Formats: sequence, structure tokens, C-alpha cells
Amino acid sequence: MNDTLQSPVPAGRSFNDLPLSPAMQANLLQLEYLNMTPIQAASLPIALAGHDLIAQAKTGSGKTAAFALPLLTRLNPRRFAVQAMVLCPTRELADQVTQEIRRLARAEDNIKILSLVGGSTMRPQMASLEHGAHIVVGTPGRIMDHLVRGSLDLTALNTLVLDEADRMLDMGFFDDMAYIADHCPLDRQTLLFSATYPEGIKRLARQFMRNPQEVKLKELHEGSKIRQRFYEVKHDERLQAVATLLKHYRPISTLAFCNTKQQCRDLLGILRGQGFHALTLNGDLEQRERDQVLIQFANRSISVLVATDVAARGLDIAQLEAVINVDVTPDPEIHIHRIGRTGRADEDGWAFSLCSPSDKRRVATIAQMMGSDPEWHTLGSLQSNDDSPLIPPMVTLQILGGRREKIRPGDVLGALTGEAGFTREQIGKITVTDQTTYVAVVRNIAADAVRKLSAGKIKGKTLKVRALRD
Ligand code: ADP
Ligand code: MG
Repeated sequence: MNDTLQSPVPAGRSFNDLPLSPAMQANLLQLEYLNMTPIQAASLPIALAGHDLIAQAKTGSGKTAAFALPLLTRLNPRRFAVQAMVLCPTRELADQVTQEIRRLARAEDNIKILSLVGGSTMRPQMASLEHGAHIVVGTPGRIMDHLVRGSLDLTALNTLVLDEADRMLDMGFFDDMAYIADHCPLDRQTLLFSATYPEGIKRLARQFMRNPQEVKLKELHEGSKIRQRFYEVKHDERLQAVATLLKHYRPISTLAFCNTKQQCRDLLGILRGQGFHALTLNGDLEQRERDQVLIQFANRSISVLVATDVAARGLDIAQLEAVINVDVTPDPEIHIHRIGRTGRADEDGWAFSLCSPSDKRRVATIAQMMGSDPEWHTLGSLQSNDDSPLIPPMVTLQILGGRREKIRPGDVLGALTGEAGFTREQIGKITVTDQTTYVAVVRNIAADAVRKLSAGKIKGKTLKVRALRD
């Protein structure tokens, strides 16, 4: 591997200097992508020139556009064959990537992007493939299934993307990825994106990349908006300390990382017992329940999401005021990755870590890697100046009808702001899934909104509506 590029890369360069079509430039402007993010500035010139690329950067750094723009530039919309394929570790990440590519692809008419993930039946996917897709985004297992059955033809493929490659390795997808890469044409371009750089990535690169160039963006900690504080706790104070931090700092949205599932369950019990609106993400949830938890967290109707690294990895949550490390992880890269989720988009963010005396060595390693001295604080210094419970600003309403009923976000917004008489400012995020629609509304109108939506019609139909438990 050659040409390792180390940060700091000049950020804030415009997309104008890139060889992109005027329609794409206009679309980027419309999406308010005014400047490239650092990973985009570092990767796009290499990827648009056709080189294989290994890019390492944290979640939320804009990696999707860094591979989507090159693959869209190369795409021939008049050729009805799969020309690009993106492998993602989970269904949610595949959905996020599909949505982001759709937005970026608006510049061109009629680009078909198909998501091939587990959890839905094969047959409709096979039918969609027969109708022709230009881009497929999928999880390795499901893509494998299609290759084995012969329902996915990759002979016209010119770009293969491995997104969150480290996570796919963690999930044991090495062999599937190798099988899939073997079924792609040799003269393709391969783009690999990863948040960390474990040994397995080098193996992947040796096995199926051609002279890849490497771009690595170290976290920029100086001037970062993340305020990091370490609290020393005794082992048995740890979970209560989370509640103490929440009462003192009162963040609207907090992601609390635990090292084990059992710790997640214990912490959830304590927080809910003290009246916090908290939910957890774990592998035991059904996909639909998981989606609901994520929607409620992203639209600010729960205050705390308790999760393990595996459960929370890669999720793109925009406004996050605080991250709490209930335990310090032994791996400094994971620590940096965890806290990098807050303080994004120029907002300030808190990162709190609870450490027992035996964790202190871990903190020393982290501090060394980040090149800064840890800021130690004591729990005793925290008192809540405000004893009122921490209440999330929004409530999620669930409407039993979705894409299948041809419901669009505008229909729901229309129903709420029309006859029901609410204002645009009282309505938050609207998420439409296949069978269900979720809309966040400010807490004090929730009951009224449920009543009015249930009594009225959406898209000409009377639909069941209820407020989700939080
Ligand atoms: P990653 O894959 O690195 O986690 P994403 O590609 O999901 O990050 O991007 C994170 C968010 O930033 C998305 O909401 C995306 O729309 C937005 N974004 C990406 N690039 C830009 C840009 N150049 N300007 C403004 N917003 C951007
Ligand atoms: Mg991503």
C-alpha cells in the first residue's frame, strides 16, 4: 500500500474542483453540501480517478458520499444492469446508505437502487432484480444467497464498495465477502471504508484489491467540540453515577455505552426506576422493535439509549448532547469512536467516562493516544440544581399505515397542520416505513394529536394511531 495521507487535511474545500457533472454539482448545492468533509476531500480525487481506495474515518464523517459520488459518476443509466454494489454489515446501515445514495442520485433520472437485505423474503427481491437495477446495496449474507441462486448477475459491475468493513469482519462475514468479490469482474474498482483498521482489513485488501491507496483521518482533537470528563467511581456506584450525571448535565439525548448486555439491562432498570425515559438496543429485539427504538431516540422522544458497541455501531444519530461510557473500554480506538458520536455538526457535546481505580491504566492509554491529559472530576462535585425529572421534548405517535398505503411524510404533516390545527413547529421528524408511520410531536400536544389523527383521515383513510410507550 502506498500514499498514506495523514490528517489534518484542509477541510472546507468545495465540490466545484471535482470532475462532477453540472447536474450533480447543482444537486449537491440543493442538498446544502457546500463543502467537502475532510474524508471526502481526501478520498474523492483518488476514487474519481479510478483507483482502489482504503479510507478510514469515524462515523458521521461523510463516507457515503465519498463512495456514492464516484460510483454515480461512472454509472450509465441507459444500461439496465447492476453496475455498482455496496456491502453493509446490517439492514439499518444498508437502509441509511440506500437513502443517502438516492438523495445524491436525484441529479440523474431513473437510477434504480435496490436494497437486498435479510429479514424480508427473497421472492420480491428476485422480481425487482429481474426488472433491472443499477445499484444494489445489501448485507453480505443476502447478497451471497442471490449469487448462489443465480438471481444476481454481476458481469456489468464496475464498482464494489465495502462499507464499515471492520464491522463486517467483526460479524464474521470474511468468507462471504471473499466469495462475493470472487464473483465480481476483475477490472472493477474496489472502495473500502472502515472506522478502525484491524489486521483483517489488510488481509481483505491483499486478497481482493489492486494497489489500493490509503487515506486515514486521525481524529482532530484540538478545537474539537467534545468536552471529555472522567469520573472515578467505585464499582458499585457505577450505574447510579449515570443517573447522577444525567440529573446534573440534563442532556436532551444521551447514548450510554455498556460493555455487556447484562450491564445494559441493569442500567436500564435503574434509570427507568428513577423516572428517566430510557430504552435499550440489544440483539434480542425483533427488527421492528429495534427500528422503533432508533426512531424514538433519533426524534428526541426518549432521553437515553443504553447500548453495547455492537448494537450501536455505525448508526447515524444527528443531535446527541452526551455520550456516557459506563465502563472504559480496553480499546482506545473504540473509546475515540464512541465519543466521536457527540459534538458533531459544530454542536457541543459531552463525553463522560466512569472509571474504577482498576480502569486507570486504560484511561492513561486513551489519553496518550489522544495526546491530551485526562480531565478528572469527582461525583461529589455534581449536584442537581434542578430536581424536576428529565423529560424528552417529543413523543412518538405510531400510525398503522405506511408506504403500502402510499402514505408520505407530507400527508401526515398535512393532517396535523390542516384540520387538526397544529403548527409546523409542533411537529418533529416523520418516518414512513412499509406498514407503519412514526411522527414526533411536542409532548404537550401528544394526547390531543392522537385523538384528532384517529378521528380524521390520512390519505382518505381512517387509521389507528397511538402514542408509543417510552
Ligand atoms: P458516515 O458514513 O461516515 O458515518 P454519512 O455518509 O452517513 O457518514 O454522513 C453523515 C451525515 O452527513 C449525513 O446526514 C450526510 O447527509 C451528511 N453529509 C455528508 N457529506 C456532507 C457534506 N459535504 N456537507 C454536508 N453534509 C454532509
Ligand atoms: Mg456510513
